[in-house]
Amino acid sequence: MIVNTLNDNASIYINTLPFERQMNCQRCNKTAVIYQKYSNAHLCKTHFSEDVERKIKRDIRKFKMVERGNRIAVGLSGGKDSIALLYILHKIFHERPDIELIAITIDEGINGYREHTLAHAEKLAGNLGISHTINSFKEGFDITLDELTGKKEHAACTLCGVLRKNLLNRTARELGADKLAIGHNLDDESQTILMNYLRADLDRIKRMIPDTEQPGLVPRIKPLRSIPEKEVALYGFLNNLPVSTDECPYAGEALRNEIREILNNYEVKHPGTKYSLLGGFEEIAEVLHPPATKIVRCGLCGEPGSENVCKTCRLLGRVE
Ligand code: SF4
Ligand SMILES: [Zn+2]
Ligand SMILES: [Zn+2]
Repeated sequence: MIVNTLNDNASIYINTLPFERQMNCQRCNKTAVIYQKYSNAHLCKTHFSEDVERKIKRDIRKFKMVERGNRIAVGLSGGKDSIALLYILHKIFHERPDIELIAITIDEGINGYREHTLAHAEKLAGNLGISHTINSFKEGFDITLDELTGKKEHAACTLCGVLRKNLLNRTARELGADKLAIGHNLDDESQTILMNYLRADLDRIKRMIPDTEQPGLVPRIKPLRSIPEKEVALYGFLNNLPVSTDECPYAGEALRNEIREILNNYEVKHPGTKYSLLGGFEEIAEVLHPPATKIVRCGLCGEPGSENVCKTCRLLGRVE
């Protein structure tokens, strides 16, 4: 029996097939823990982990995500993606004296949810000996997300996304970070690309170009961009990383949920679709020009934004 026949990129066995039906790794003949439909490969635990790490190293090189002497701030929410990201970056760079990793967690103030993921973040950063800074909406904006959603008509995820991005960037900049690594995986990236195509939002598409630098913003890097979400989860599980199954009580963005379902269903019928979206976007990105939107300093809080009063200040009601 396959316990977890996943709906998209991979069927994960996790050693639960009856002995006579277990498949072997195509590289070493040990029992496979995953079948990657998109590459038609069965891989054991060791070769699966190697495959994940190889793709990440390849992308780090290809997009020059990390350069000599960099201080890399890792956005560590404590969810499975950011936990795997910190662990893998530490594995890749811990013997490089010129590269420093630091971790930043933003506590949005979501009762009954954030406490658990925060504990995982602290545990992993502590185990790896990585300096860990926790900043909160309460400290940064004098209000928690729970308090803010009660007052404002905007969806919780809109408020959360804009404010978290602002505070994460500000904290990384204040800590002297050269790059800000975030745990967006292949599913996140392909969903965002498709959403932006469907909305014909060319400006956002341009801002997704990996090496676009914008004044006042610490350049963001996405080392997990080529790793399917289920594989990030499996990597964490196989490497005994603290993984939380808790879900944020605020529902995800409605359009994103629809896109996720469409893409997952399409991936089942046409394995490799998410990679095609990412690859197609990279080719389009090469002929796109930098974002038309000029980044300016917000007249109220001084943070970078696309208008004279930034989105954060608008959402916080600092201006009518
Ligand atoms: S689901 Fe929405 S509210 Fe919850 S952490 Fe994510 S963006 Fe924030
Ligand atoms: Zn193997
Ligand atoms: Zn502002």
